[in-house]
Amino acid sequence: MATLGDPKNTIAILNKYDFTFQKKFGQNFLIDTHVLEKIIHSAGITKDDLVLEIGPGIGTLTQYLCENARQVVAVEIDKALIPILREDTLKDYDNVEIINEDILKVDIKKIVEEKNGGRPIKVVANLPYYITTPIVMALLEKQLPVDSITVMVQKEVAERMQAGPGTKDYGALSMAVQYYSEAYIAANVPPNCFMPRPNVGSCVIRLTRRPEPPVQVKSPELMFKLIRAAFNQRRKTLQNGISNSAELSFPKELVGQAIVDVGLSATVRGEALGLEEFAKLADYLLDSWGRGQ
Ligand code: SAM
Repeated sequence: MATLGDPKNTIAILNKYDFTFQKKFGQNFLIDTHVLEKIIHSAGITKDDLVLEIGPGIGTLTQYLCENARQVVAVEIDKALIPILREDTLKDYDNVEIINEDILKVDIKKIVEEKNGGRPIKVVANLPYYITTPIVMALLEKQLPVDSITVMVQKEVAERMQAGPGTKDYGALSMAVQYYSEAYIAANVPPNCFMPRPNVGSCVIRLTRRPEPPVQVKSPELMFKLIRAAFNQRRKTLQNGISNSAELSFPKELVGQAIVDVGLSATVRGEALGLEEFAKLADYLLDSWGRGQ
């Protein structure tokens, strides 16, 4: 296999198909074999695995996945890339299916049922940076049968995923990632490993789904509404953030009472709370007022 991780081969393919990079699709193709090997290694892919790849591009990472996994399903939004994948870079592999679709519209549960008998799959991707958060949140929150997600993301996003209470990077993404998974940064990747070069540094991060969440809460859905409310209005107090949320309709006095009753200061801000405190507050509000909708 003439690896596309060698920039000469990537350039040859791009020229052959007269391909133009689309900025709107976040296209930065990998051109570094060490990084590609690192992703495969970090994801722990074996010949038992069904792997979902988001955004195969010209198939650089996909070739490695096909060599290492049992089966690969690759979802690519840009129709200009489909003939390159089908007729050229992936034509020698019989264990890959290429779907021309927006990943946010794909029924992943159905793919897992049909192609893996419902057993959890692995997700691997060099993600398009403009939709990293919606993709990761959907994979985590929809409780899809996914046992790990190994992805290239902007360094700053990787730091947000790992951040703890009271830090500037801490937010709704940190809490969702840490509630559903254990996050591990496997590599720092500089801009010169991509074509074209992005303006920011990148990281490979692996999110391994937890068998049990780290805190018990009666309604995770309500807890995440509180979390979103708290971080949507970061500079407001927690009481104001929750009272002003369009997703919730708890009376302001009740919110104030709940905050004090669970042992927090009346003027606390959401960014000071950990998962455990949000869980306590959610249970208190649920017990005393229902779901607040
Ligand atoms: N995997 C390739 C690599 O590592 O060289 C390409 C990675 S590039 C950062 C992101 C890829 O995701 C592009 O091929 C882009 O067209 C595709 N993409 C962007 N938005 C998408 C979406 N909503 N659904 C599926 N693919 C998408």
